[in-house]
Amino acid sequence: MTGRTPAPFTADDYRARMGRAARAAADAGLAGLLVAPGPDLVWLTGYTPTAVTERLTLLVLAPGQDPVLVVPALEAPDAAQAPGVAALALHDWTDGKDPYAATAALLDGAGRFGISDNAWAMHLLGLQNALPGTSYTSLTDALPMLRAVKDAAELDLMAAAGAAADATFEEIREVPFAGRRESEVAADLSRLLREHGHEVVDFTIVASGPNGANPHHEVGDRVIERGDMVVLDFGGLKDGYGSDTSRTVHVGEPTDEERRVHDLVREAQEAGFRAVRPGVPCQEVDRAARAVIADAGYGTYFIHRTGHGIGVTTHEPPYMIEGEELPLVPGMCFSVEPGVYLPGRFGVRIEDIVTVTEDGGRRLNDTTREMVIVD
Ligand code: ZN
Ligand code: ZN
Ligand code: ZN
Repeated sequence: MTGRTPAPFTADDYRARMGRAARAAADAGLAGLLVAPGPDLVWLTGYTPTAVTERLTLLVLAPGQDPVLVVPALEAPDAAQAPGVAALALHDWTDGKDPYAATAALLDGAGRFGISDNAWAMHLLGLQNALPGTSYTSLTDALPMLRAVKDAAELDLMAAAGAAADATFEEIREVPFAGRRESEVAADLSRLLREHGHEVVDFTIVASGPNGANPHHEVGDRVIERGDMVVLDFGGLKDGYGSDTSRTVHVGEPTDEERRVHDLVREAQEAGFRAVRPGVPCQEVDRAARAVIADAGYGTYFIHRTGHGIGVTTHEPPYMIEGEELPLVPGMCFSVEPGVYLPGRFGVRIEDIVTVTEDGGRRLNDTTREMVIVD
């Protein structure tokens, strides 16, 4: 991920997000939030440094204080271009100065801070050293809901990313599969996602035949054959917001068993989707999908959680997994993606991004979930 997020948000939007984050931090008993380059910083400011280096860049958000971006002097002009940074106080530092001492001077010197999960360990160690009276916790653990609930403008962007992924599927189902390598079909997926407006392609899984039994199969040189099931799972970012969808296609006529397993996964996906309602704990989505597969005797072949959140990244909280009791809230977006993986034989996964509405779930992917036959 490089460059600024092109999402159409204004300085006011970012200021409102920073205010909400600071209040949430106070409610969680934190003295503040320390936000390193990555998805939280993008969401709060629209700023992505062109390169994340050993030089400290850190947004300091403390309740009752104006936000400050600690930034290397040589990056400051670029940072100031980001819509959410333009109105911020910048605290720039030059090589040879101690950025941890500079950050320490901005903080009260004591208390518990939430720090971005992806902050470098060396930066956290530097802060701990400069501020012996502080302690730190994962920002995601402390504020799992910070980015989870999308507003109307974000939902429009999520829907547009989903529509672009759907358009990609409608075109990929028309390309030849038999006789081509997985890597060639993956290159088609990547090209199509970009043609449909994605600026980032995160993954293009093409898992044919026995490779389909590995949920995160790396695309390889295997030549796709007639008779193969092929799991396609692709996504990335369009205008700063994520897409992620899976469909499983078959090259030529499937066997009865292949049809049966595909139908089963489709029913499980439908059951997971139908479980989506405000107030329902995340784990109920997993349970609903898993019960369908378990009841048919395939429970041991569904080897991952049912879903994950999505937003300015393609994998984030909340997770649709047993044990996650966080209640669903309108505006949350996540995948519902059950699968069955038969080792050495084939796999099936069907995945849509779903958002929670007042009345239930709304799919942001809606290409057919029936098995598509390709050539
Ligand atoms: Zn087959
Ligand atoms: Zn996926
Ligand atoms: Zn996914």
